[in-house]
Amino acid sequence: NDKQVQDLNAIIESLFPLIQAEALLSDKYISLELGECTHFAMDEKEIRQMILNLALNGLEAMTAGGRLSIKTHTEQQRVVLEIHDEGTGIKPELIQKIGTPFFTTKETGTGLGLAICYSVADRHHAEIEVKTDHTGTIFFVRFKM
Ligand code: ADP
Ligand code: MG
Repeated sequence: NDKQVQDLNAIIESLFPLIQAEALLSDKYISLELGECTHFAMDEKEIRQMILNLALNGLEAMTAGGRLSIKTHTEQQRVVLEIHDEGTGIKPELIQKIGTPFFTTKETGTGLGLAICYSVADRHHAEIEVKTDHTGTIFFVRFKM
């Protein structure tokens, strides 16, 4: 693989127009809160794919008026990406299944988006944590700096 030190914030900013356009189509909003020092060694294409997959899932989980927040910050030698939606959450009995290739609850879903995210995380020695309840879902991805 092919990793170079790059700024996660710059990648998020470059994807913003695309995510924003997708959100506006269904009356949803995006907010960015980007912290400092978010550089780490990454495969840029893979990280772009991961951010897009998480953002699109967040948008798909919400009804009109919902807000998707994309945040970055650092903590203890980690760069943290946080994607927070105001959707209906993931049912507890389904949490084990998400990320399994082809698992989807959507009529026309592929069930591949999260499987890709988990393998990108693996290849970056990153960890994904999910917090979800009836008010929404947060995906945290923690990358080593
Ligand atoms: P797809 O989006 O094609 O269904 P994914 O792998 O991206 O496939 O997601 C798998 C399943 O995980 C989704 O069908 C959905 O049930 C659940 N899921 C993923 N992200 C979210 C989210 N942000 N909010 C609620 N459910 C989610
Ligand atoms: Mg998806």
